[in-house]
Amino acid sequence: MRPDGGHPMEETLDPQDWQAMRALGHRMVDEMMAYLEGVRERPVWQPIPDEVKEFFHRPLPLEPEGAEQAYRDFREFILPHPMGNIHPRFWGWVIGTGTPLGMLAEMLAAGVNPNMGGGEQVANRVETQVLDWCKEMLGYPTQASGLLVSGGSMANLVGIAVARNAKAGFDVRRDGVGAAPRRMVLYGSVETHGSVQKAVELLGLGSENYRRIPVNAEFQIDVGALEAAIAEDRSAGHQPFCVVGNAGTVNTGAFDDLGRLAELCAREGLWFHVDGAFGAIARLAPGLRHLTAGMERADSLAFDLHKWMYMPIEIGCALVRDAEAHRHSFSLTPDYLAHGDERGLAAGPIWFSDYGIQLTRGFRALKAWMSIKEHGASKYGRLVQQNVDQARHLAALVDAAPELERVAPAPLNIVCFRFRAEGMDEVALDQLNRELLIRLYESGIAAPSYTMIHGKYVLRAAITNHRSRREDFEILVQAVIRLGEELVREGATGPLRETD
Ligand SMILES: *Cc1c(COP(=O)(O)O)cnc(C)c1O
Repeated sequence: MRPDGGHPMEETLDPQDWQAMRALGHRMVDEMMAYLEGVRERPVWQPIPDEVKEFFHRPLPLEPEGAEQAYRDFREFILPHPMGNIHPRFWGWVIGTGTPLGMLAEMLAAGVNPNMGGGEQVANRVETQVLDWCKEMLGYPTQASGLLVSGGSMANLVGIAVARNAKAGFDVRRDGVGAAPRRMVLYGSVETHGSVQKAVELLGLGSENYRRIPVNAEFQIDVGALEAAIAEDRSAGHQPFCVVGNAGTVNTGAFDDLGRLAELCAREGLWFHVDGAFGAIARLAPGLRHLTAGMERADSLAFDLHKWMYMPIEIGCALVRDAEAHRHSFSLTPDYLAHGDERGLAAGPIWFSDYGIQLTRGFRALKAWMSIKEHGASKYGRLVQQNVDQARHLAALVDAAPELERVAPAPLNIVCFRFRAEGMDEVALDQLNRELLIRLYESGIAAPSYTMIHGKYVLRAAITNHRSRREDFEILVQAVIRLGEELVREGATGPLRETD
């Protein structure tokens, strides 16, 4: 007999010394809390040292190194070299920060470790409740179906998959898209996120049949141009089937006129999908709610909880108005998964595997459930408003600085701007701003990202960060001006203009 009662020939992955594992766990919690508490004191980001890169070429361990050693290596080689998105001055792409309780909830979820594909288990009820709360927060119909997914990309894929199957007019699941008598066409603005194109391609619809409609000066879809494109496709004998509306575009935070898009879709018999990856959450702030008007009329709605609800990555959500259409797109019940029982583990009404691609699914619902209970929905609304107020503050600082130029409207939480210098042409300005951003990263002071607006290379701060303070934007603006002036001085003596 082993000390724990097991047969001497049998092994397990449980610790031999539970007391030591418990002590290690306590240390991890203590050290991670200190790490999060002190995040502001560290650089946002730093280049990865060569010896750290080297470390990750070490060979496969065949023999145990032990839990202590694994954690020591985590502390030495992983923890000090973060992406930076937990830092108060990270505003790159659209990436949330996470929270301490979210981190602990991830641990609890992994401890319980259920498979959220189905079965009679209470964890499913947690996800159902989180979906109900999401519908309530977003004003979406209560009878809608939904699914927690890895993020907005997967949520867009789910929504557009249901749109395709519901609107095809034939059995796409059986016959395949090749059986379509007419080209199935869908529409979105040129500002629509790349994940929509990926979904279109993956669903066999073909990016040629995804019409990219121009935007107005506010970066909203030009509804007149959209109507004209639909009419043109109809007269060419094609089959328009779906419009993708934006609740918060990734470049500038623009909202399409969702009410008008909903009406147009109703009139034309088209599926209305809304990508609200971060912008949908603006509905929680009373002062921003009007932007989302019409979103509640979407046939499907994709959004993230790991962006503007600051939950640990990954968690996004797809909601579908017509629950039957949703189930019809994904349910498949081979014998080994039959779930018609009245009683027992395989009973229960909730089989999320019937609503998405994954069969084995993680308990991501728990971090959402605990986070929403911890803070309440109203606090998220205040934080969203706080980020929008901070974006306005940043826009005002940029507008007030003669060295800087704002290059797009900032209706929400995203500010696009660049350093400008007398007498430099556009090519030189692009180069200067590109180098400026790299130096800003290397300084560790702040981490916005960049995008192209009207063909110009611009810095872009997207604020989905509950740790940012007003002063952080002042620090950003000062650093950008200082680095820009430094580059102009260097450029006057030569190198900048020749570099790529
Ligand atoms: C981030 C984003 C997505 C993709 O969501 P992920 O969570 O990164 O998969 C889609 N649309 C918009 C507007 C986004 O900002």
